[in-house]
Amino acid sequence: MASVSSLREHLVEELNDLLNAEQQLTEALPKMAERASSRDLRTAIRSHLAETKQHVQRVSQALKDLGEKASGKTCDAMKGLLEEGQELMDGSDPGALLDAMLITAAQKVEHYEIAGYGTARNFARLLGFDNHAEILQETLDEEGATDQKLTELADGMINELAASGASK
Ligand code: FE
Ligand code: FE
Repeated sequence: MASVSSLREHLVEELNDLLNAEQQLTEALPKMAERASSRDLRTAIRSHLAETKQHVQRVSQALKDLGEKASGKTCDAMKGLLEEGQELMDGSDPGALLDAMLITAAQKVEHYEIAGYGTARNFARLLGFDNHAEILQETLDEEGATDQKLTELADGMINELAASGASK
């Protein structure tokens, strides 16, 4: 078992965790978009997929710049979040209710990423990797904007439709 003995090592572990989380997401988001009935929700998920592909690149680059190889670690937390999302999708027909459930799953994912990028950015900043801190902040901003967009879609209409049973 790998033992972490410095904040720099912890940062590298966290970057590897984020890298795998983002990679898992590039596989999962297309499926989620496909199951969405709301066109706006589908568009939001697809545009975040494009950003997510960038996130993979950025984290890979950060690891490379630090002279580290990607460890191939699995992010078990993301795996679990996506499994739960898949369960929701399997258990519901397309419609407003499933859209509301997709937003639940997607926001849990975004919040996980926000926690990961926020802490990693602070470690990078503290360790003097200002350039990396800035890039992590860029991704963090995109995760935050996506989370906000999902809230807007939910509050804008989707939750109300789900509540009224307009599921088809
Ligand atoms: Fe991301
Ligand atoms: Fe994200």
